Amino acid sequence: MSHDIYLDANATSPVLPAAASAALEAMQACFGNPSSSHATGLRAKAMLDGVRVRARRVLGAGTGRVLFTSGATEGIQTAVLSALCAVRERRAAGEECGDLLIYGATEHKAVSESLAHWNRLLGTGLTLCALPVDGAGRHRLDLLRELAPRAAMVCTMAANNETGTVSDLDGIAGVLRECAPRVYWMVDCVQALGKLPLDLAGSRIDYAPFSGHKLYAPKGIGMLYVRDGAPYTPLIIGGGQEAGQRSGTENMAGIAALGAVLAALEQGDSFRTHAELAAMRARLAESLVEAFPGIVFNAPFELTLPTTLNFAVPDMASKDLLDLFDAAGVRVSAGSACSAAKAAPSYVLEAMGLPAWRTSGAVRLSFGPLATDAFIDEACARIRRCGRAARHPALAPSTFSGDRSGLLQVSAGGRHGWILFDADAATCVAIDPPAGMAARIAAQVRGSGLRMLAVLGTDADPAGAEARAALRAALGLDTHAADTLGWPRAGAGVGSITLGDGSAAPAIAIGDEVLVRLAGGDGRGAVFLAGRARDGKLGPAAVRLAFTGGLMIGEAAPHGLARLVDGGSVLCHGLDAGGAPCTTAQGLRTAPAGPLQQLQPERLDAFLRAHEDALLVDVREACELEAGTAHLHGIEAQAVPLSRLAEHLGHFLAAPRRPLVFVCRSGNRSARAALCLQRLGHAQAWSLAGGLALAPAA
Ligand code: PLP
Repeated sequence: MSHDIYLDANATSPVLPAAASAALEAMQACFGNPSSSHATGLRAKAMLDGVRVRARRVLGAGTGRVLFTSGATEGIQTAVLSALCAVRERRAAGEECGDLLIYGATEHKAVSESLAHWNRLLGTGLTLCALPVDGAGRHRLDLLRELAPRAAMVCTMAANNETGTVSDLDGIAGVLRECAPRVYWMVDCVQALGKLPLDLAGSRIDYAPFSGHKLYAPKGIGMLYVRDGAPYTPLIIGGGQEAGQRSGTENMAGIAALGAVLAALEQGDSFRTHAELAAMRARLAESLVEAFPGIVFNAPFELTLPTTLNFAVPDMASKDLLDLFDAAGVRVSAGSACSAAKAAPSYVLEAMGLPAWRTSGAVRLSFGPLATDAFIDEACARIRRCGRAARHPALAPSTFSGDRSGLLQVSAGGRHGWILFDADAATCVAIDPPAGMAARIAAQVRGSGLRMLAVLGTDADPAGAEARAALRAALGLDTHAADTLGWPRAGAGVGSITLGDGSAAPAIAIGDEVLVRLAGGDGRGAVFLAGRARDGKLGPAAVRLAFTGGLMIGEAAPHGLARLVDGGSVLCHGLDAGGAPCTTAQGLRTAPAGPLQQLQPERLDAFLRAHEDALLVDVREACELEAGTAHLHGIEAQAVPLSRLAEHLGHFLAAPRRPLVFVCRSGNRSARAALCLQRLGHAQAWSLAGGLALAPAA
């Protein structure tokens, strides 16, 4: 894939070339300490003062202060500390200051966490109160009107980082003027800089933090506006820099770079206008709608920054969408960068009252005001390509093994379900489909042109039954034609098979193979065996797969399953067993459980040269491979998606010493594949640490 299409500007931005040059100049030529009285220091001081003057103009700071900080998080701390110290002093003087710290429910965590932290540390004992927002993410002014008379401080953002929703600051100011004239008001302006007009001194705002790295300046530089007359307490004390308001030698490189960005903003010829940005967003939205029919945008465009789109696609988890975009070189995020590591649903979207599938399936796409038409053209082309890739049939024969039959793992909420299919017969069965996956599985089955013969369960529990009923309904299957575990009552393909212990069991045909039903351990559930029968018999060695649900296989298993399968039969579980969704009885008994074998990216080349028979295995999903499988050091990886690992376990374990190097996007999925193989006795199963993201170019 050629260059990245970076659509995560609300997380951070690249540095403007003029800003990088200014930073270099400040580090090499104009490197003085602005507090020094010699000429080198004076030149540095002049640069610092010049940037501050420019910042004051851009922010409309009037007679207010503008301090340089390390970023918005520091600005937020300083504002909260200043307001709470003032509240404490006023209360000590007998003044009534209110008992609430009100913050917008969709505020960045830096705000709510700072309020809680300083309130606790200063012992102010105020009550934190999240101000609800409406369905578009705008503050509920009716509730603010009720609460504001009790507020000591109110914190609201100018624009939300996840949805781009622009706050009604005039409306909030009106309520505060009327109901809480002495309340301290902080407005987090991080996402507003360069995207919304600012006239801070003309507003009621007391504190406004900004962050450089959200608008083409480097990380580690920010600004804090403080209204003339608003209380101020320094967060950092020391050498008296910034007129004693923020000590510590100034970040001169950052300030110089920020100055270059502010200069570009003032000149107005490099940043796109609001109308131009809105037109770019409309084009991105159009390509998204074309790529993902059914897409829902999570905030109305007329109320959001023109540079942010937040959306969800029915039946697609945000992680799957992110993997898909990343494979096409399009960098987007599932919400704020701070919460990217947590897979939790977005609290911002939850506060807006959106349904669970939209809060947990959300993807944010954001760009900066320097975007060009050529960039948007390429972004739209890649988004359309992602759409085509998403429609790639998941239930297709493996390109690695060439087998016409296959097995797809479908997991959700820690439970694993399985779809066994045969491409030639164009039929499939589902076993233990997890809850919430019905529409997705149905779409995959339809998209792959297969007919579902049965939706089976290994367990009679009500949740499983509900999930099976949902899948049957999504596929329009007749529910009366099957028993409670989904086994077909009669009809074509239902017959009887003799098993290894001589017993007979009912079976259905899926292509060349049979799927046999055994009674489960408690007599209520079931276990299913799949394999190629000969003369009506399915001996242990012929059992390719066993679907065991929540049961563990062992000699003690009450259903005697251990006698019916072979040590190499692949056991497909309903819950992880031995840390993996699929195992073999023999592997689990014999393999020592060692630590994961990780291959560091810088060692890959030497490893591949030393092991000419090594197999590179790309475990990204089929839809991510639209741009092709990974090529590393002249070797093309074989595509075996992690969801198809069980199907290929037999192939891999048949050559337990042939080195396998699993790769994926970030190294997580490849680690799972390598561990699974390793635990089953494969001596040379490796995961490429850091994934393709860190792999040196081929
Ligand atoms: N506020 C908002 C709305 C943000 O988007 C961010 C950045 O993630 C912050 C505050 C924190 O900014 P910084 O990274 O400069 O501390």
